[in-house]
Amino acid sequence: ESEKKVSDQKVQSKKPSEPAVFIPVDRLPEIQEARLKLPVLAEEQVIMEAVRENPCVVICGETGSGKTTQVPQFLYEAGYASGSGIIGITEPRRVAAVSMSHRVAKEMNLSTRVVSYQIRYEGNVTDDTKIKFMTDGVLLKEIQKDFLLQRYSVIIIDEAHERSVYTDILIGLLSRIVPLRNKKGIPMKLLVMSATLRVEDFTDNQKLFRTPPPVIKVDARQFPVTVHFNKRTPLEDFTGEAFQKTCKIHRMLPPGGILVFLTGQAEVHSLCRRLRKCNTKLKPPSFMHVYLCLQSLPRIDLDNYSALPVDEGDEDREAGIGDEEDEASDLDIGDDPSNAEVKADPSIPLYVLPLYSLLAPEQQAKVFRPPPPGTRLCVVATNVAETSLTIPGIKYVVDCGRVKKRFYDRVTGVSSFKITWTSQASANQRAGRAGRTEPGHCYRLYSSAVFGDFSLFSEAEITRRPVEDLVLQMKDLNIDKVVNFPFPTSPSAEALVAAEQLLVSLGALKEPPQTGRIKELKRAKLSCPITPLGRAMASFPVAPRYAKMLALGKQQDCLQYVIALVAAMTVREIFEDLDRPAGTEDESSKLTQRRARLTQMRRLWAGQGASLLLGDLMVMLGAVGACEFAGCTPKFCEDNGLRYKAMVEIRRLRGQLTNAVNAVCPEVAVFVDPKMTPPTEHQVVCLRQIVLTGLGDHLARRVQVEDVLDPKWKNGYKTALMDDPVFIHPTSALFKTLPEFVVYQEIMETAKMYMRGVSAVEAEWVPELLPQYCHFSPPKDAPSPWFCSTTGTVRCHRSSSFFRVGWQLPAVDM
Ligand code: ADP
Ligand code: MG
Repeated sequence: ESEKKVSDQKVQSKKPSEPAVFIPVDRLPEIQEARLKLPVLAEEQVIMEAVRENPCVVICGETGSGKTTQVPQFLYEAGYASGSGIIGITEPRRVAAVSMSHRVAKEMNLSTRVVSYQIRYEGNVTDDTKIKFMTDGVLLKEIQKDFLLQRYSVIIIDEAHERSVYTDILIGLLSRIVPLRNKKGIPMKLLVMSATLRVEDFTDNQKLFRTPPPVIKVDARQFPVTVHFNKRTPLEDFTGEAFQKTCKIHRMLPPGGILVFLTGQAEVHSLCRRLRKCNTKLKPPSFMHVYLCLQSLPRIDLDNYSALPVDEGDEDREAGIGDEEDEASDLDIGDDPSNAEVKADPSIPLYVLPLYSLLAPEQQAKVFRPPPPGTRLCVVATNVAETSLTIPGIKYVVDCGRVKKRFYDRVTGVSSFKITWTSQASANQRAGRAGRTEPGHCYRLYSSAVFGDFSLFSEAEITRRPVEDLVLQMKDLNIDKVVNFPFPTSPSAEALVAAEQLLVSLGALKEPPQTGRIKELKRAKLSCPITPLGRAMASFPVAPRYAKMLALGKQQDCLQYVIALVAAMTVREIFEDLDRPAGTEDESSKLTQRRARLTQMRRLWAGQGASLLLGDLMVMLGAVGACEFAGCTPKFCEDNGLRYKAMVEIRRLRGQLTNAVNAVCPEVAVFVDPKMTPPTEHQVVCLRQIVLTGLGDHLARRVQVEDVLDPKWKNGYKTALMDDPVFIHPTSALFKTLPEFVVYQEIMETAKMYMRGVSAVEAEWVPELLPQYCHFSPPKDAPSPWFCSTTGTVRCHRSSSFFRVGWQLPAVDM
């Protein structure tokens, strides 16, 4: 009945000039009841009216207010998917695209043929699809194929506050596409949805929208959340701290789900294990208890469920060792008088679930289901639970206050993963998760003074990472002057110049003829047009350096190896981490053994002689080859220190890259059987050269004996852009070989600056294959080739042995 009422109102509120379209949706009564409680429903009229009257609309509302699940339904009901166009929603995270499409399909009582999703490797879109959830990267690729996005009548950019690079670019592009479409008489709407109110980057940005779009605020019913800070100085071991706090909450506070925020997958698993173990270590339950639990819980998930009561008597074991003195006052339960009366039931077991973006979808879906009766839900999550997913029933939040972020040095290209303090906005988002259904508590594992030092907001991602891939994509969209692009937040001019320079070196862009005037030169540097090679490269779904390798891969029948290698190089962490710290002495000796065995295995994959010189990349290729030969089973991966998920992803990517290469030059590659025979020696040499042409700017030269004045340079390598030495990692295949010239995938700063993905290079290849990086100068006494750190180039003598007659060398003046 209530549904009818809503729909009647809607029809009436339409302007008489517009046809009253209403596509009925047949929702289940319980779904309808739940959605009527969502704050966004109160704004349906306002939102739809704004959408009718404006090309672009911004919607702000707390996480959980119903934006993602409801707004697409409003649009569907109002007929935005009833014509030829469909409704598209972008998410920065794959998790959200998949889980939200399932949720909306369920709410609307429609099949996944109609409400579908598309992410990089998979999707269930059909010809009947009317609502399509996708990652922002997927939509960007679609814009390349059809700039006007004619399939869509509405695009919703969700989670805009996350400021992911692709989201930012999409908003920039759509700010142009929408007016263009409307001018052409194919109407289109843009909705930008954000969890925070800080939307000025989108609305007050003259470059983006000439008339600022209306902002609709959805008032969420947020219950008060009492925030408790730690009194002590924050510890290094925040996982341990989180463990103790969670146990305390569970032991002392009344029912209500617990949500713990940690920084990464590894910590999430480690805490889950500890929490489950501490449940099982306690007094075993009576047979009757287990029997009753199993009887009454048909859907019980034995994987995640330890149906074992927490015993008060075993307090110490549960809470960990020592450090108990000032703990009792830490929880401050007294703050909320209503809680002081209620006593927690200590016999309730904890139902522990992990949540992070790479988790399998079936596992992720578990957090939305009610926990088995008689248990307390405890979700241990990374910051996916901050805004993308709302977990029902959370009353307590434990916040470690940190995030794991990739840092990237714009000048040197060195990246590192660092755990840093989060922003105040993020910390408040996390706290807010506790007040969705009733008043809650947030326990911050840091002091209020530390919180005061947090930055207010997180920076937009685009300002923190290299942009050559984006620049290439934009050039492929014929946006030559990337500096003029309406970015919500622009990357620095420095980053843009560096990106164009790299793309010119790779041959993807062409430097326009240079005039003498410095001002024009500067401008020219930022508006190099794309080359045919660049277009081919842009069609490959990998970063430009790897795209270049694919473009050259045809030679010497190397393509299948290049594809496998690029797939392996672009998937993060195909090997299990050998540096994992061990706990007890016993564990530590076992780990040392395993480490030794896995290192041995990697040596085997690297092979001897010619193949060893391909170095770490040969190890990757060998791993992929061996794994596929063994049928790519989880067991093989486990036994050989490979990440099963990574290997599955590599296989998918190999298929996808093969298709992409075939689309550019038909029939060169076939991918039927993932198995391949090892490359010949000759092919390995060819692979090394192909790798060199892609990674040309990542060349390093071992410091010569006579140069080693300072002991810090021992076994060090010199790169073009850094003053400090970089090193080959002890786990690298080339650690003992120490070739004179190498190329590397990237430099990660851990204990030292280590090169990752190292491959050996023959000196004479440099002027032949990378003349653009060389300065050719008259013979001198200096060794040749050598690095000139001021110009960042390799210098060679014209007369040196590898100078070949007939090889065209550009004459470059110093
Ligand atoms: P927002 O986008 O504003 O953050 P959502 O639309 O994601 O809000 O969520 C609205 C409500 O739907 C929340 O209360 C959330 O708990 C619920 N919800 C979302 N996904 C699911 C799911 N898969 N199962 C059950 N409830 C869900
Ligand atoms: Mg949402």
